[in-house]
Amino acid sequence: MSQSDAKEVFIFCDSCKQNVRLKLPAEILDKRVGGLLSVVSVHGTPPHAVVAYIDEQFRVRGIEYPQAALPEEPQVIQEVSEGAVKDLEPHLELGLTGLINSLAEKPKDGVKVLAALMVRAITKRPVFLVHDDPSEGEIALRAVQGLLSDQLLFVTVVNHTQVRGRNLESACVYDLQAKRFMSEGPKVDSKYFEQTIGSLVGQENAYSRLRNELSKIFYSYDRAKQILAQATATVMDTHLASEASIDLMLIPLLLEMAESEGLKLKPKVQQDGLGRAIRSI
Ligand SMILES: [Zn+2]
Repeated sequence: MSQSDAKEVFIFCDSCKQNVRLKLPAEILDKRVGGLLSVVSVHGTPPHAVVAYIDEQFRVRGIEYPQAALPEEPQVIQEVSEGAVKDLEPHLELGLTGLINSLAEKPKDGVKVLAALMVRAITKRPVFLVHDDPSEGEIALRAVQGLLSDQLLFVTVVNHTQVRGRNLESACVYDLQAKRFMSEGPKVDSKYFEQTIGSLVGQENAYSRLRNELSKIFYSYDRAKQILAQATATVMDTHLASEASIDLMLIPLLLEMAESEGLKLKPKVQQDGLGRAIRSI
C-alpha cells in the first residue's frame, strides 16, 4: 500500500512565462531513496521542455531548459544525485549575495530591503532606485528585474537630481548610494518575501531559485486577480489555487497583497473545508 500522497509542485517556466504544474505520483515518492527528483515537463505550444530538480521537502533546487529532442511523454521523472544541480546557476553580474550586499551594509538589512522592493514591484507600485552613476544603477536594476523574469515591471533607475524636490510619498524610492529608503510608499507586509530570500542566501543556485519562486508568485498574482475580477459568485480557494497554478498555502499571501493594492478580494474567496479534508486523508 502507498504511504505517501501524490504531490503537486508548481514552477515558473521561463520559456513560456507561465507556471507549470508538476505531478509527483505517490508510487514514485514511496520508492525514492533520497537525493533529488528530476522532473522533465513537456508542455505549451509549440511544445518545449523544462527540467525541475525537486528535493525531499518539495523545494525546487534548480531549473534547466534542455535543447535536446523532447520526450514523447508529458512528464518524465527520475531520481538523480544532489550533484545534478551543481552548475545550474547562470553567470550573473550580481548573484543573490552580491545584490543583497549592494543594498545594505548588513546582509540582514539587505534581505529586508530586497523583500520590500520585490513585494512593491509585484503589487505594481512604481519603484525607483537612485544612483548618480547610471551604469552602477543599471547593474542593480537588472538583478532586481531578473528576479521577476523580466515580466512587466515598474522599476526605474534615476539620479538624485531627478528626485530632488519631488513629492515621493506614494512611490517606493531607494537610495542605492546612501543605502536607505527615501520613501517606502504605502505599507505592505513583506515577511513572506523576507523569509524566502533569507532562506536562500548562501544556498546553491540561490538567485535562480529565488527568481523561480518570485516569478511564480508574480504570475499567479495576476492570474488570481483576473479570475476573481470575472467571478460572479464566491470561489473556492482550492479552485483558485488550481486555476492560478499556485500552491494552496500561497493563496492568503496573494489576497493580502491585493488588499494592499486596495482590492477587496478576500470576501470573494471561500475556504474549501471538504477539499482540505480529502487532501489530508
Ligand atoms: Zn514553458
